Amino acid sequence: MSKPIEIRNPRTGKYDYVIIPPPPKLLIQQCNRLRRAQQSWLRLGLEGRIEALQQWKQAIISGRDKLTEALVADTGRLSISVMEIDSFLSSIDRWCKLAPKLLEETEKETAVPFIKLEQTAVPYPLVGVISPWNFPLLLSTIDTIPALLAGCAVIVKPSEITPRFMAPLLATINAIPQLRDILSFVEGGGETGAAIVQNVDLVCFTGSVATGRKVGEAAAKRFIPAFLELGGKDPAIVLASADLELATSAILWGSVVNTGQSCLSIERIYVANFIFEQFVERLVAKAERLQLAYPTVESGEIGPIIAERQAAIISDHLLDALEKGAVVHCGGKVEDSGGGWWCRPTVLTQVNHEMKVMTEETFGPIMPVMPFSTPEEAINLANDTIYGLSAAVFAQDETKALAVAQHIDAGAISINDAALTALIHEGEKNSFKFSGLGGSRMGPAAITRFMRKKAFLIKTKSIADPWWFNTQ
Ligand code: NAD
Repeated sequence: MSKPIEIRNPRTGKYDYVIIPPPPKLLIQQCNRLRRAQQSWLRLGLEGRIEALQQWKQAIISGRDKLTEALVADTGRLSISVMEIDSFLSSIDRWCKLAPKLLEETEKETAVPFIKLEQTAVPYPLVGVISPWNFPLLLSTIDTIPALLAGCAVIVKPSEITPRFMAPLLATINAIPQLRDILSFVEGGGETGAAIVQNVDLVCFTGSVATGRKVGEAAAKRFIPAFLELGGKDPAIVLASADLELATSAILWGSVVNTGQSCLSIERIYVANFIFEQFVERLVAKAERLQLAYPTVESGEIGPIIAERQAAIISDHLLDALEKGAVVHCGGKVEDSGGGWWCRPTVLTQVNHEMKVMTEETFGPIMPVMPFSTPEEAINLANDTIYGLSAAVFAQDETKALAVAQHIDAGAISINDAALTALIHEGEKNSFKFSGLGGSRMGPAAITRFMRKKAFLIKTKSIADPWWFNTQ
């Protein structure tokens, strides 16, 4: 019997939920069962798989209230939970529409006229998905949907910090006969995650750099592919010509949505000297208008800090910045209300790269703003990081913004907006530096990466090949 894990409620601080990770032996059996069942899932064909996913979508719509309730209990926020479910449902439709074209088998001519090539692809039998707590539903399903359509069975282990949504989601999976044998969600912490890496054929991991490194190493030892989607410290660069109204609104949203608990949050803001003061003034005015979603979950835009350990990190970064001379314009501290941890949108100036708030992932609603004199200086500052997830550039002229964006070492760069990869899933992107490893989870590669390519090389004429030995 594995040790139960008690789960904290982010709004009350009470430990009001318990999960029991599966014992290692049971997990291995479960993986073997899923791998066996994958054969029938594959035989069902793409049309059958699309139909099963559409039935799942209907079951989720029917069970939506319970799923919302559980997600709210997991995360303490309401509107983002609603958005997570909407986005999950639309991702099922999007992938069901795209999959037939993306998974089409092709026949090609080769350089040798009497040899043709048939190109096909075989799904990895069992995919493991390990996900974090900041968007529990979205990040445990973002890789799952394309993997299922590709023909894989999937075992998902969401974060032990936000596990409540699994029970209502499992009820919707169990309602679909074709799905329940090839899709499992399991409860558990790091040990269960590590055991999954040992028992699957491909792993999709979303989480911190430290854990991602362990997962990558364990997968490499087993020679299985690992797709690692890790942390970030996204910069925004605001050039002198930028529309200040637009830039401040976009950056505020990109920095503090979901209380800044997003891998692609804007965590550093570099603003041209010329407009620095006006920018800070407008950003502070807008930030001050946002309210905490307290005492009721419906009340404001800023939910609680979901993970208690994150509250400690945010406090530490703020303290470090203040000790080193940063100035607080609004917010500025982690507060305890009703047993939960909260932080109001915080604007800091007089910051520099000696501070943790400019170099380490904060994962909170903190907006440190630093001036620059030339675009080259801004680019150097933006690239002065171990991360390379995404970024944003603001300028009146799109080509000037793109000229700066070309030099930023990051996989996705929003121009005159922030965090667009959260909404636009069509563009392929790779993480740079420590922000990740492996193929793109966006665009066509998101589905094709779950398949191994196979080439059938077919001789079409019964003639001797010119390169054979002459044995006549
Ligand atoms: P984490 O690394 O602590 O945990 C992530 C998951 O890994 C959890 O499910 C955890 O139980 C599991 N885990 C822990 N130890 C493991 C091990 N040894 N082997 C296998 N699995 C193990 O991360 P977190 O605190 O849950 O999430 C926050 C981090 O996730 C931040 O750094 C954030 O930037 C990152 N993140 C990245 C993306 C992205 O798309 N790049 C998206 C969201 C979050």
